[in-house]
Amino acid sequence: GHRVAEPAREVASVCPYCGVGCQVGFRVRDNRIEEVVGRDGPSNQGRLCVKGRFGFDYLTHPDRLTKPLIRIEGATKDPADCLEPARAREKFREATWEEAMDRAAAGLRSIRDGIGPNALAGFGSAKGSNEEAYLFQKLVRTGFGTNNVDHCTRLCHAASVAALLEGIGSGAVTAPFMAVHEADLIFIIGARPTENHPVAATFIKDAALRGATLVIADPRGSSLDRFATEVLRFTPGEDVALLNAMLHVILAENLQDDAFLAARVDGLAALRAHAEAYAPEVMEARCGIPAEQIRRVARLFARSPAALTLWGMGVSQSIHGTDNARALIALTLVCGQLGRPGTGLHPLRGQNNVQGASDAGLIPMMLPDYHRTGDDAARAAMEALWGAVLDPAPGLTVVEILNAAERGAIRGMYIMGENPAMSDPDLAHARAALARLDHLVVQDLFLTETAALADVVLPASAWPEKDGTVTNTNRQVQIGRAAVTSPGEARQDLAIIVDMARRLGLGWTYAHPREVFAEMTQAMPSLANITWVRLERENSVTYPCPAPEAPGEEIVFHDRFPTPDGRALLVPAGLSQPEELPDAAFPFVLTTGRQLEHWHTGAMTRRASVLDALEPAATVSLAPGELRRLGIAAGARLRVTTRRASIEGVARADPALPEGVVFMPFAFREAAANLLTDPRLDPYGKIPGFKLCAARVEPVP
Ligand code: SF4
Repeated sequence: GHRVAEPAREVASVCPYCGVGCQVGFRVRDNRIEEVVGRDGPSNQGRLCVKGRFGFDYLTHPDRLTKPLIRIEGATKDPADCLEPARAREKFREATWEEAMDRAAAGLRSIRDGIGPNALAGFGSAKGSNEEAYLFQKLVRTGFGTNNVDHCTRLCHAASVAALLEGIGSGAVTAPFMAVHEADLIFIIGARPTENHPVAATFIKDAALRGATLVIADPRGSSLDRFATEVLRFTPGEDVALLNAMLHVILAENLQDDAFLAARVDGLAALRAHAEAYAPEVMEARCGIPAEQIRRVARLFARSPAALTLWGMGVSQSIHGTDNARALIALTLVCGQLGRPGTGLHPLRGQNNVQGASDAGLIPMMLPDYHRTGDDAARAAMEALWGAVLDPAPGLTVVEILNAAERGAIRGMYIMGENPAMSDPDLAHARAALARLDHLVVQDLFLTETAALADVVLPASAWPEKDGTVTNTNRQVQIGRAAVTSPGEARQDLAIIVDMARRLGLGWTYAHPREVFAEMTQAMPSLANITWVRLERENSVTYPCPAPEAPGEEIVFHDRFPTPDGRALLVPAGLSQPEELPDAAFPFVLTTGRQLEHWHTGAMTRRASVLDALEPAATVSLAPGELRRLGIAAGARLRVTTRRASIEGVARADPALPEGVVFMPFAFREAAANLLTDPRLDPYGKIPGFKLCAARVEPVP
């Protein structure tokens, strides 16, 4: 009985853990990933971080769903089940695929036909492929008949995209982060690449060591500060005060790029008038940065021969996130720091495929390639391609959909690979809204907090089990290949979507992602000259790509912007009241985010043994002096309370945190930080303010 082991084979794919999009080799033996190695991809050059290297044994975790589940007749939906997976599981029974799909589709059909299409909504996923995102939004738009389709982009860069579309006509990055190698100055604001884009951070460090000037603006310190020339630890929520003060200096001292402005940008006179009130001496108290330093940094940025701007959730996850991004875009345009090597605007995308899923139309106000649903010509083109009639009215966004569910206006949902019962703000409300739905279909790898409230749960496939393309933060479209098969009866997500579409009356026949990709290239001119065959051969092609054999364009907008007249627009951003000001009852600012080892709601990384061993518990970080003042020892339990909820975690001393600020990661089910967060939305991007709410911190007796 001695079995000869199959030799390991290496399957070329992409890491599914963040928008950097590192190319990986999955070394596979006996249908298991034994090891992951970095391949020489354009965004990683062989490098990987801890998640890409060690984060894959969630595939074989005993929690994997291997059979469809149906809620047992009469089993109540209790939001408390989100925290009790065993109790949640007892409320389901196993079913065949036929029965589960029949039940899933019948519930959606009856709401569509009985109440109306807009009583339905779908959440797709930035963790899946472009083909899945495209088909999912097509299913919701043509099978459900509504534009109520969205995904977690709403919770990350929606504000950045709103400001970018308004200002320069495109929401994607204007240059890859590898432009750091040609940059003379790198300006990073509201981003923590060492934790959230770790391999990109290694290239930023290389650039700083080579001599680039690194300027970091963030209320929290980070290990990247060691490489910086200037560190601006500004007051949380005061991005506009800081950035407008920089604009004031540049315009007052005549440091703007007049030639660039005259040739390519509108709105200077209004911005100049607006910036007058923002002298650094006036703003320093508000943003917490000395006027002299604001002046120094503004001059450095304006005079730099090539400045690249990178930003993250610190800018966008705010109820004035769009204004933050407007000020940042204005700074870049006024100084002409765009369209040349080493310059540009780069919102660092968080999830592995948030760029691609947004491009594919997985957003409620836009069809594929960012055509507004109300644009008659664009809608007619899509109606002709899809053979369907589309609703011109934009749909609801993520948080709006759950608000509508709470009111009873949304009655049924199909959620693929998203976990709003962990990721949405003010979770008690979000969970109650999900529990209230008449019909909830969840397609995922595990019985997530969201699946615990479902009527039908469909076992899906993990990224290393699938073929498909994803688009990283650099606009690089990359191909992933199946390395292993799914456990039990778990199915390919694409096949589940197609099955659902058929049961909703659509005659779909897609058998392979390459057929979907071919249709996408018809629907999306942005993908011109990128084919599946080419991706199989080259692994990665950047869009836009000018010719079938040409490389894609890494730096865009050399001479014009994709706006009707080719010009950009400066949009003045005003100061607004921070979302929830600390007061006597809630004297701290709570900020939430990620950690290096855990990804988003933790569904995958908390089931990856190495990653969970590194960060096993929900921590609450404070400056060491604050912990002393509160009489709390590092490692002891403490309680964090906001106007919405109260949770407990383990105290951690973090010298990089300013006084008065508490940080919590949001990946931990047992102490879900989003129970605490504020659900109010930015009026333009409809993004909640995850980075700032008022909180109280106490020792647990
Ligand atoms: Fe994966 Fe991002 Fe780490 Fe690269 S940097 S290995 S894409 S998590």
